[in-house]
Amino acid sequence: MQRRILVTGGAGFLGSHLCERLIDDGHEVVCLDNFGSGRRRNIEHLEDDPKFELIEQDVRTASSLPAVDRIYHLASRASPADFTDFPVEIALANTQGTKHLLDHARASNARMVFASTSEVYGDPEVHPQPETYNGNVNIRGVRGCYDESKRFGETLTVAYNREYDLDVRTARIFNTYGPRMRPDDGRVVPTFITQALNGTNLTVYGDGKQTRSFCYVEDLIDGLVALMRLDDPKYNVYNLGNNNERTILELAEAVIKATNTNSDITHEPLPEDDPRQRNPDIKRAKNDLNWAPEINLQEGLNKTISHFQD
Ligand code: NAD
Ligand code: UDP
Repeated sequence: MQRRILVTGGAGFLGSHLCERLIDDGHEVVCLDNFGSGRRRNIEHLEDDPKFELIEQDVRTASSLPAVDRIYHLASRASPADFTDFPVEIALANTQGTKHLLDHARASNARMVFASTSEVYGDPEVHPQPETYNGNVNIRGVRGCYDESKRFGETLTVAYNREYDLDVRTARIFNTYGPRMRPDDGRVVPTFITQALNGTNLTVYGDGKQTRSFCYVEDLIDGLVALMRLDDPKYNVYNLGNNNERTILELAEAVIKATNTNSDITHEPLPEDDPRQRNPDIKRAKNDLNWAPEINLQEGLNKTISHFQD
């Protein structure tokens, strides 16, 4: 069935892939973005499509939200490099912005998916992280504007569901990478690839023994779409990510190998509150969404590197 779908943050990395996928699936898409961390070039190829509409506004205050039957709320800066420069915007995009969209979903009788994050688990003391783990977040630390606002954003979605019976689900997204990440985004995959292609040393923070589990963008978008499609989900929150856990040193070595660069590795100080380990328990998504990531790190890195070379 063709639907009219609002994607906030639609000009960003994940959002632009999602807009493209939804249009390919035959839907009408309204993309709302303030171009804070997103880029016009990510959606330029969609702008002539009659099924695509762009609204350049801030999600916290957007005055012209369109009537839709589905809402994906992705608008929020997501790079730790932005947490020091834009803490207020980030905190409010996930709280005030989420409330604004929940009210709109109620008024339009729309189903909504909120893009939360593995950061709600903070520096986890339970490993891997199941959805039932409540996390270990430093609420006043430099990452608090992001982690804690995603947590409260989730709380709001549950409150709207309880009080108004609103159909809203949450995806806890674990580190996702791929084409259209900005080279200067600050997150580790685009940073390492850019450094390797420029022949400068890869900057591993700390001893590099901290772990992440990297998911390729196509897999993640499949998961988001499956979560939206599911009627009567058993749970209102699902982890989405790849559970193939790597140390950051292993990632650096994989990028060096895949780019065949002469770059070496240099160590820089570990940022404040950098989580030591992260790996999603994805049993829920496997069982209920019939979803699992399919693209391994080598293949995903090769696709991403080709994009960066272009
Ligand atoms: P991104 O920075 O590429 O995209 C975010 C988009 O939201 C950008 O286009 C930006 O301009 C827009 N935006 C930010 N604040 C806004 C505001 N106040 N009003 C309107 N638009 C605004 O980042 P991304 O990686 O694509 O992340 C998208 C979403 O997914 C975010 O909510 C992020 O928290 C979540 N997420 C991403 C990852 C990941 O690994 N990529 C992991 C966990 C969660
Ligand atoms: N990191 C790194 N070098 C960089 C950028 C990041 O070693 O140039 C590390 C960072 O300290 C963290 C991991 O890579 O341990 C993932 O960082 P990213 O910012 O991509 O995402 P996070 O999972 O921390 O939100």
